[in-house]
Amino acid sequence: MLKYTRPEGGEEISFKNGVVSTPDYPIIPYIIGDGIGIDVTPVMKRVLDYAVKKAYDDKKEIKWLEILAGKQAFDMTKQLLPRETLDALKKYRVSIKGPLTTPIGSGHKSLNVLIRQNLDLYACVRPIRYFPGTSSPMVDSSLTDMIVFRENTEDLYSGIEWQANTDGAKKIIEFIKQELKSSPFRFEENCGIGIKPVSKEGSERLIKMAISYALKEKKDFLTIVHKGNIMKYTEGAFRDWAFSLVKSAFNGVENNDGTYSIFSNESDHELIIKDCIADNFLQEIILSPEQHEVIATLNLNGDYISDALAAQVGGIGIAPGGNIGDGIAVFEATHGSAESFAGKNRVNPGSIILSGEMLLRYIGWHEAADLVLNGVKSAIQKKQLTFDLARARAGKRIIRTKSKHKHTEQEVKEEFTRLVPGATLVTTSGFGDAVINNM
Ligand code: NAD
Repeated sequence: MLKYTRPEGGEEISFKNGVVSTPDYPIIPYIIGDGIGIDVTPVMKRVLDYAVKKAYDDKKEIKWLEILAGKQAFDMTKQLLPRETLDALKKYRVSIKGPLTTPIGSGHKSLNVLIRQNLDLYACVRPIRYFPGTSSPMVDSSLTDMIVFRENTEDLYSGIEWQANTDGAKKIIEFIKQELKSSPFRFEENCGIGIKPVSKEGSERLIKMAISYALKEKKDFLTIVHKGNIMKYTEGAFRDWAFSLVKSAFNGVENNDGTYSIFSNESDHELIIKDCIADNFLQEIILSPEQHEVIATLNLNGDYISDALAAQVGGIGIAPGGNIGDGIAVFEATHGSAESFAGKNRVNPGSIILSGEMLLRYIGWHEAADLVLNGVKSAIQKKQLTFDLARARAGKRIIRTKSKHKHTEQEVKEEFTRLVPGATLVTTSGFGDAVINNM
């Protein structure tokens, strides 16, 4: 059995009346993660500690608590996600994690999914912003500045599905034909079935979180992205529930063009709520990205949209993320465990560092968060790049994998300088140093 020792002098973050309250010495659990977690997570801790100290001197400090999941946990307890770890994530409310490997083979659910389900982290929040210096396919990447609120618990991701020709699939098909008197199946013999649940409660809580964020941050636009023209009672309902909520909970007023406006009480700020059909949205983010700022969408759309947007700003390797529920949040690196790079001090720690920046904002430590963000921005702008960012920037592979020749460090550095003139190739920990030196 695992027993986590409470860090001395630390206190729990609390949550009352919808507000997160952070003590000066909050206990923050962290999971190092599998594979490259060992490279990136310690760098993130060092960067956050430095930013907090620089912002608040010794008046505030994160009291880190290491908790285990993935391989490390399995080696000790024979469980990939021990109960004590879930309890700590719940008790301390705000935490951060490195990537976790999902063991291949049936019967293994993703640990990330298990954490989201157990803690009811119903929103996957992904900010998308461009860092000058990264390579991007857009003519003007600075126009893309969005934050995606993706529903995290429902939709086709609920796992309600049956393989073709199994008892389950056959029973569902029979039920629809016999009981519901409907024959929508074109090839019912070999037909897999997946069910798409979308509830009013599940949709409303996600939409409410996105609107509250947009009002707090004084954003101009919030877009409800859905495919309601085809899937009327799930995606269409998501849109309808969103507009009903805008009217009932936020006193929204309808405009002539079908959009709604919410006027915030404290300022004369107007937030416009509009909707966009998902396929059109994927065109608009390329043709006129400045028209969208805060996005509220369902699980499957959100998955595609988050990655498309991250690629659009050239930052899929540094895209941060947080899984958030009511007064509880787990921030995480959005990339996987990339086992072949583990322990080599080569990969980019940007994703988990920027997830740490989100964590600092979530607990209200904005000064420290600004320092982290500025540090990352300046490091990239000054071309202090890990191999992946440099490779993307050069548009080529730094090391040609077809070659049998094993490149020396020196050869890699030389090729790097040739491809990205003026850049410095930095290691994982070196990128952390660059962020710290540029805060
Ligand atoms: P991956 O992200 O681990 O790796 C794919 C490739 O992306 C790597 O080979 C590497 O070239 C590059 N890459 C990833 N992270 C990088 C970084 N920080 N810096 C530079 N380059 C980086 O994806 P995968 O191979 O599909 O998944 C490996 C494992 O990770 C799987 O078990 C998967 O389930 C898991 N995974 C976990 C999470 C998570 O914990 N949130 C997310 C995705 C995948």
